[in-house]
Amino acid sequence: MNKIKDIAKIIKKSKSIALFTHISPDCDALGSTFGLSLALKKLGKNVKIFMKDDFTASQHLLFDENEVCKGECNINDFDIFICCDASSINRLGEYGYVFENNDKTIVIDHHVCNKMMAKYNYIESESSSCCEVVFKFINALKVKLDSEIATKLYAGLSTDTSSFINSNTNANSFLVATKLCLANAKTQFVNQAIYQSKSLNSVVFKKYLLDNFKIDGECAYVGIDQQTLEQLNGKKNDCSGYSKALINYKEINYSFSLIEEEPNKFSLSMRSKIGFNIRIIAEKLGGGGHVCAAGATITANNLNEAINLVLSTINENKERIKTEKI
Ligand code: AMP
Ligand code: MN
Ligand code: MN
Repeated sequence: MNKIKDIAKIIKKSKSIALFTHISPDCDALGSTFGLSLALKKLGKNVKIFMKDDFTASQHLLFDENEVCKGECNINDFDIFICCDASSINRLGEYGYVFENNDKTIVIDHHVCNKMMAKYNYIESESSSCCEVVFKFINALKVKLDSEIATKLYAGLSTDTSSFINSNTNANSFLVATKLCLANAKTQFVNQAIYQSKSLNSVVFKKYLLDNFKIDGECAYVGIDQQTLEQLNGKKNDCSGYSKALINYKEINYSFSLIEEEPNKFSLSMRSKIGFNIRIIAEKLGGGGHVCAAGATITANNLNEAINLVLSTINENKERIKTEKI
């Protein structure tokens, strides 16, 4: 792994910089990428963010989609390529090619399972969000934080810690949050955008969750297929809080949700409590993530098959999930 100050030197020398993040970006992905982009612009760099995914309604309130380029990235147009919050080339989706055999690449991340796919890699797995790591880079680049940058970074910090309650929340998370507040991060605006801007139609999905979740021992789970999503007039994002909602009960130590994104392609989201490492299951299923929040993309003929695959993987690895240290 490289040092922040060495990577900062490379960034300082570069004029044109292309930024990337992981597919189906969450607010940490967007916050770290947009926060870094603003900081680099303050240094006078030409910056372009490449991203294929559309933003969710909440994300639209916080990030400007017009800043994003959805087209191809011409390798010759940039001096350096940086990706934030992405642990492997697969997670870059259609932009994976940019990081293949390219020695002008930088990875900034906080995933312990990061595959270090760039020439220069800085991964801080003890950080609760990539925004915390970008915060350090912005300091190293000697860019003064402003309200706009602080607001973007706060959005990632707040969501990747699930509002400072996940087990990855530590002293540094609070310290960075304080510094972002001191730089006038609009925390209330972020809170409202993320936690209080659901569409009324999403109540239907809350009802679906309550009507359909199941319990298997200490695991709670729910799944939804495309047909049902369409019937309820919803999108994948309407169900994005399912695994998080199911971990809230005392009897439950881990939870998962499966959402059929495309025919036979299911997105798995998992959560666990202290003493349980759910990332082991996500990795067995070809994904990754963190000890208490992980995910994968699963191919199966139908929802039941996908659910059974996850349940059997959990049952085969029940003892391995249990962990003393977290
Ligand atoms: P989510 O449940 O969608 O909020 O995802 C929780 C965490 O799991 C993310 O922060 C990622 O680190 C990881 N993750 C989610 N989906 C995948 C995937 N398909 N492959 C690898 N890691 C994933
Ligand atoms: Mn992320
Ligand atoms: Mn993250």
